[in-house]
Amino acid sequence: MTSTSPPDACTVLVVGAGPAGSACAQWLAHQGVDVVLVDQHDFPRDKVCGDGLIPDAHRALERLGLYDEVMAAAQPAAFLGCVAPRGGRVDVPGRLAVMPRRQLDDILKRGAERAGARFFAPLRFVAPLLDGDRVAGAVLRGSDGEITLRARWTVLATGAVPQALLASGMCRRQAPSGIALRGYVHNPEMQGRLTALDVVWHPQLRRGYGWIFPCRDGVFNVGVGVGLAQSHSMAGEDGPTKKRNINLREMFATFCEVYAPARELLAGGRLLGALKGAPLRCSLDGAELERPGLLVTGEAAGSTYAFTGEGIGKAMETGLLAAEALLAGAADDAAVAARYRAAVATLKPRFDLYERANKVNEHPWLADLLIWRARRSARILRRMAGVLEETGNPGNLVSLRGITRLFLPIR
Ligand SMILES: Cc1cc2nc3c(=O)[nH]c(=O)nc-3n(C[C@H](O)[C@H](O)[C@H](O)COP(=O)(O)OP(=O)(O)OC[C@H]3O[C@@H](n4cnc5c(N)ncnc54)[C@H](O)[C@@H]3O)c2cc1C
Repeated sequence: MTSTSPPDACTVLVVGAGPAGSACAQWLAHQGVDVVLVDQHDFPRDKVCGDGLIPDAHRALERLGLYDEVMAAAQPAAFLGCVAPRGGRVDVPGRLAVMPRRQLDDILKRGAERAGARFFAPLRFVAPLLDGDRVAGAVLRGSDGEITLRARWTVLATGAVPQALLASGMCRRQAPSGIALRGYVHNPEMQGRLTALDVVWHPQLRRGYGWIFPCRDGVFNVGVGVGLAQSHSMAGEDGPTKKRNINLREMFATFCEVYAPARELLAGGRLLGALKGAPLRCSLDGAELERPGLLVTGEAAGSTYAFTGEGIGKAMETGLLAAEALLAGAADDAAVAARYRAAVATLKPRFDLYERANKVNEHPWLADLLIWRARRSARILRRMAGVLEETGNPGNLVSLRGITRLFLPIR
């Protein structure tokens, strides 16, 4: 059990010890900043996720010096298996891995502590502490009641649930951008047979997708996700996808019926624990990034990609950007805010492209065409690998020009 007696004051208070918060805390502490990291849950704790680590997460872990420790316990994978609505499949090469978040987030949190950050839990952010209009720390609730912790800066890295954003006046959109549900299935017979990170589009999953990601020891993370209506790109011929129209458990059952490997996995395996759902906040949208004394980072700031729902890597990246802005801006509120806004803005075009790539969920024929062509064209497969590695843009593949090029002779 972590101590619940934090100090009265610190230089930076980071709220939330997910990938964004721990990365931010580690980077600051490493530079000698007095950092307190708090979370509403004691660690290790579970986080509902697909647990897939794509190349941006690998790069962020390398920057944090935690890559070897993570990979020593993760399940590596060499391919993202994209399965189109009509069943066509292409394996896109990439640097991939799977690690349950209970383990990954604990490694990240311990990395922050090793760098010098002090971690306290369970402590829940209730409200900001104000000096006039400036945030000067937080009111936190622990098992012994409420405490106040004064801080020169507070960083909110509280993930997709908007309560902390609402309490701080930073929430611009309360509704999630998407919702997803996952379960762990134990089936040692299938170990070694399902080795890629499979992402599956199917007409019966409507505008969503399913996945099977192999963990270690014969355990598989199986799940379904769907984007929600506030994004205009979600409005299709039978109306926008609304949360009330979606039953993720039914979607999960459908996925396990229509996708043969999922069917086999469940039929011969055992579900470990309950199926669990969670919201997603995507496209760097839905929250203010800063106000004097406070920065918002990670999924609280919408740092998860629409279309794929991947966000672990970008959570760490934005956490590092917040830390860098604080280090560079020192005592100047306006300099910190401007630097952080500018740094996050450089990521925005890629998030917009993922939002555009949502067209694949609206127009399943596009996924069929793309995957059919990628199976026959080294050029298109290379471009898909470039998107995964972030050397290419996903939106280009589904832009009018990109689609037109799909009809060109195969190369
Ligand atoms: C079902 C599902 C599948 C997904 N699959 C993948 C995947 O395979 N790969 C991928 O890259 N991404 C995936 N994502 C997205 C990924 O989970 C997020 O992008 C990522 O967790 C964001 O990290 P974060 O640090 O910003 O927030 P989080 O990981 O959510 O961490 C936030 C932390 O803040 C704490 N907290 C929240 N409120 C308070 C408060 N008031 N006071 C104190 N502490 C608080 C929480 O306890 C938590 O520890 C998935 C998401 C879902 C829902």
